This record gives sequence, structure tokens and C-alpha cells, in this order.
Amino acid sequence: MSEQWTFYFEPDKCIGCHACSVACDVQNDRVDDDNWRELRHEPTGSFPDYEETAVSTSCFHCGDAPCEKVCPTGAITKRESDGIVTVDQDKCIGCHYCGWACPYGAPTYNPDNDGKMSKCHLCLGEGEGDGHGKPPREKPEEGGNTPNCVDNCVTDALHAGPVSEMMELASEAAVKRFVNGNRRALVEPVEPDSGGD
Ligand code: SF4
Ligand code: SF4
Ligand code: SF4
Repeated sequence: MSEQWTFYFEPDKCIGCHACSVACDVQNDRVDDDNWRELRHEPTGSFPDYEETAVSTSCFHCGDAPCEKVCPTGAITKRESDGIVTVDQDKCIGCHYCGWACPYGAPTYNPDNDGKMSKCHLCLGEGEGDGHGKPPREKPEEGGNTPNCVDNCVTDALHAGPVSEMMELASEAAVKRFVNGNRRALVEPVEPDSGGD
């Protein structure tokens, strides 16, 4: 069995260019507002030292996956092999429970997909909740098993990989927040660390 994967994001390196979200849209045929990766502009500080920080988010494939716990049909699975959280489109009834349970607004609903839920699958390309017909990114020239958003980040602000490797890259403060937060988002704090999620 391989190790649980996760994303690791460094806001200080992000320039808000949207290359990651556009790369996701292209790889996974996302349309209009049905985006699996979003660029958000979070306010930090207060007047007159107010700033906005670009934050790139998608499904973080949480350790405790609240979406999986509320799904009434068993459509959502956290894979044993790598912790990737997938959605079986055949089992989804579009009830929205997972969207309400997700702290990051990751699940999206597309009317053209019968209102069913879909979300980031780390460019999985195979198995349940797969890339919706996309082939696996297995070859090095296709990015290997690195998600397309990470491949196309222009400043190396976005990373994905086994949790232990990502925690080695991260600061002590980010790791502490990750562990205290049910192993959800591994993100560098933009303000002095509070020790929470
Ligand atoms: S980020 Fe949201 S959709 Fe992804 S595993 Fe966590 S709760 Fe589920
Ligand atoms: S919308 Fe689909 S995947 Fe989400 S909780 Fe309902 S049945 Fe499960
Ligand atoms: S591609 Fe990288 S630098 Fe550009 S918005 Fe995304 S995370 Fe930020």
C-alpha cells in the first residue's frame, strides 16, 4: 500500500496568476463555474495594513473526509491505497450533503452532469470517481502522477505528494496546524500561527 497523498500550498509564493485553476479546467474539462480548483483572495490584516492573499484551493483529500461521512449512498470513497477521495458518479444522487459538509466548498454540481457531485481527484484518471474518461497521467511527459495544477504552477507554490514528503517541505507551524486539524489542509499560515486549523 502506498501512503496517503495530500496537497501542500505556500501562499507567500503564490502570485494569483490562475495557471493552476486553468490547468485543472483544461485537464478535466471543467466549464463555467463548475471549477474543481479555485483561486480565492482572502483578506489579511486590518486597516491600514490590509492586504489580500491569493489562496489556491481544491479538495484536500482530508484525513477524516467529512464528505464521506455524510454521503447517504456510499458514493464517496477514501481510497485505502493513497487516501484520494473519489466520487462514484453512478451512486451519486445529487443530494448536496457532501457540499455542505466540506469545509472548503470543494464539491461542485454541474446541471449538465444531472446535478451530480464531482470534484478534484488528483488527476487520478482511473478507477471509481475517475477522470471522467480522461486517461491516467502515467507517462513522465504527461506529468507522471503529479496533478496538472501542480505541474503548471509557475512559482512552485503548489505541491502534491505523500503526506510525509509534504510535511518535510512544510514549516513546523504548517505541520502543527495540519495535524491539529484532522489532517485536512496543509497550508502555510499567512499570519502568526494560532495553532488551530
Ligand atoms: S476537502 Fe471537502 S471534498 Fe475534499 S475530502 Fe475534505 S471534505 Fe471531502
Ligand atoms: S451529492 Fe452525491 S456524493 Fe454528495 S453526499 Fe449526495 S450522494 Fe453523496
Ligand atoms: S499557478 Fe501557482 S502561483 Fe499561480 S495562482 Fe496557482 S498556486 Fe498561485
